[in-house]
Amino acid sequence: MKIGVLALQGAASEHLDILTACGVTARPVKEQPDLTGLDGLVIPGGESTTMRKLLVREQLLSPIKALVQQGFPIFGTCAGLVLLAQPESLDGLNGTVVRNGFGRQRESFETALTVKGWSKPYHGIFIRAPYLSEVNQPAEALVTLTDGQIVAAQQGNVLVTSFHPELTLDKRFHQYFIDQMVAKRSDQVS
Ligand code: GLN
Repeated sequence: MKIGVLALQGAASEHLDILTACGVTARPVKEQPDLTGLDGLVIPGGESTTMRKLLVREQLLSPIKALVQQGFPIFGTCAGLVLLAQPESLDGLNGTVVRNGFGRQRESFETALTVKGWSKPYHGIFIRAPYLSEVNQPAEALVTLTDGQIVAAQQGNVLVTSFHPELTLDKRFHQYFIDQMVAKRSDQVS
């Protein structure tokens, strides 16, 4: 199984490491040909406006948007969530995103998260994180903070988190993406 990590800007290497630790082949995606042969794609954190500009410059925005529409598995973290939730960017998740939603006071913070369907809490690391103020069908929230901010969600084969699962040693979000989206989809295709 091959999973690409968009590597135009931001934190690609940690995703490559954790995906490798999950037992899949992980490789950076910098230009269109790198998308060939992949079973899934991770869009990392970084700065979403810059990343969007680079996606346009490298002619990757339209092909990735087309993949999203075809049900290709995509996991976006932080700035990746922003790009997937913006209709003008990748348009992969039906919801409203609030960029830098936790403001200056809480630029960066860590907290234990309760994930829908998981028995043990997950340690969330938030860095100038966005959140979703609402998600609408067919998207559903996976993690909602006590004040109502949605910080993880799924819509079909699109998974998003506001926080950085690649900065922990806990592989559960990447494993969830691999098992529930990438593996199931490649079963259907083969
Ligand atoms: N605040 C950034 C943005 O909106 C995202 C921050 C991050 O990815 N750590 O692009």
